[in-house]
Amino acid sequence: MPIRILPDAVASQIAAGEVVERPASVVKELLENALDAHARAITIRVEKAGQRLIEISDDGEGIPSEELSLSVARHATSKLNSAKELFSIRTLGFRGEALASIASVSRLTLTSGQAGTASAARLVVDGGRVGEPEQVGAPQGTTVRVEDLFYNVPARLKFLKSDATERGQITNLVSRYAVAYPNVRFQLFIDGHPELQTSAGGDRREVLAALYGVDIATQMLEIILEEEDIQVGGFTSTVGISRGNRRDIIFFVNGRWVVDPALSSAVIQAYRTLLMVGRYPICILFIDLPADQVDVNVHPAKSEVRFRNSDRVFTSVQRAIRRGLLANSPVPEVTRLPWMALFASKPPAVAGQPPVDPSWSMAADLIGENLPAGAGAAGGSDAVNLPAGSNRQIPILRLIGQVGSTYLVAEGPDGLYLIDQHAAHERVLYEKLTRQIGRSVASQALLAPDVVHFPPQQAQLIEKELPILSSLGFQVELFGANAFRILAIPSIFTSSSARNALQAVVDDFEEDETPLQHEYEKRLAARICKRLAIKGGQSLTAEEQAALLCDLEGCESPRTCPHGRPTMIHLSVDLLERQFGRRAPR
Ligand code: ADP
Ligand code: MG
Repeated sequence: MPIRILPDAVASQIAAGEVVERPASVVKELLENALDAHARAITIRVEKAGQRLIEISDDGEGIPSEELSLSVARHATSKLNSAKELFSIRTLGFRGEALASIASVSRLTLTSGQAGTASAARLVVDGGRVGEPEQVGAPQGTTVRVEDLFYNVPARLKFLKSDATERGQITNLVSRYAVAYPNVRFQLFIDGHPELQTSAGGDRREVLAALYGVDIATQMLEIILEEEDIQVGGFTSTVGISRGNRRDIIFFVNGRWVVDPALSSAVIQAYRTLLMVGRYPICILFIDLPADQVDVNVHPAKSEVRFRNSDRVFTSVQRAIRRGLLANSPVPEVTRLPWMALFASKPPAVAGQPPVDPSWSMAADLIGENLPAGAGAAGGSDAVNLPAGSNRQIPILRLIGQVGSTYLVAEGPDGLYLIDQHAAHERVLYEKLTRQIGRSVASQALLAPDVVHFPPQQAQLIEKELPILSSLGFQVELFGANAFRILAIPSIFTSSSARNALQAVVDDFEEDETPLQHEYEKRLAARICKRLAIKGGQSLTAEEQAALLCDLEGCESPRTCPHGRPTMIHLSVDLLERQFGRRAPR
């Protein structure tokens, strides 16, 4: 075949493939246009998951009647003049492609009027064929009606997911923009039913409540960080709330929703050791930085950006979250005492769900999955009151003793604390060790170096990992075939024998699957501390108990072990009084 320039219609459809992948992409482009036009109210109507109809009306600035035909042409935009301006973009759109692309794969009707002009104009584009604009009466603003999306590209239709999925994508998208723009009134109707309505009251938490429910919204921690020219704001969940996937980790960069796996992992890393493995937070962050620090022109759908200094953004995000969390991690509070569950009447079985086992739901209470509303919110009435300005994460506790050789019992200003000695010791060891990693880990020379033999496979592992061992504070050298001489071990492990300490590390090497370079040492540290921490069932002397409690009080995140399980349970004075009938039950 000879080389030819493609007809315009074909070229448009090819371009449309990149911009308009699914109904939600149409909604995104049209929403962005409305926001760029400074709309105060945006109404979105969707029928048949967007395939029948997507209609977006706004009360923004409108398009001048004489420019209406131009607005649906390819590469026609009022937002960009020169290539140089690509690095100072303040609008969401700039490519001048959206209306043309959408119009080439649907029947599009564009109606727009401007303030101060008596009439508005309407234009119909059917599968890319542009009609003649006509004068109509319409209020200020723009309405874009997109009917029969993909009617002329049936192949596209086959790639769409179920209606429920496509609808879900639209709802998610609109809700996220609603949080990002709390001063704009959003209304979303799906098949005639109101799905989302916001009040334009300017309060993001209020919009969050519409999305996640009041309980979660009130518990979300507010994040604020300003570092030079980067600002990170938004909300993130307390450690008591989590999701099984990372879909609720959301970023807006300079007002634009973007997908950025690196930033997601910054958030996830900030939760490391606070959430259980495989659990992810809910987090919506608004990152603002000078326009010349972000390249927005990397993706046709504008859903990815490139940062000039991505490390700096990454660190700011991580720091912002970490600070918010440390200032607020709650002690799980028991709302019901264990023995009460034995007398509680069985909860009624819900159709279609397995009956709830009372002991199970009680366990959930204990591990803090069901934190009472408000317990996580700063200043919640049940929250532990810390003296202002103190770094202390838990109040000073008075040791009472040990029960079952497994728990410490202590009294605080606001009730009773039960502390899991294993989890607590794990946290203490972990923080001591990680604080030293990277600088130099204090190690303790052995009076008599210990020679230990290992099976060949383990010996190989040790040999390979000698540098890591030394960064953890072990001084180990090869001593003949499959034997090692231990000269020193990290001082924090001196309560174990040198052999046990090394064995714990080797056991861990054996089990590890995929080390994560720079976080590797920390993860390794977490696991070694678990192996070497005091176990449940081990009785401790009064001095040991007191030392453990004191060490725990000094921790940065004393409320969870490095793997995210709670170290302590709090029985508040209030709860005790209710349980003993000194006060009316809740
Ligand atoms: P872009 O947004 O990248 O400029 P679009 O194809 O989305 O490209 O829109 C083309 C132009 O049409 C915009 O630059 C803008 O001038 C105008 N326009 C589109 N939608 C609206 C709207 N809702 N309100 C006002 N003007 C609009
Ligand atoms: Mg646009």
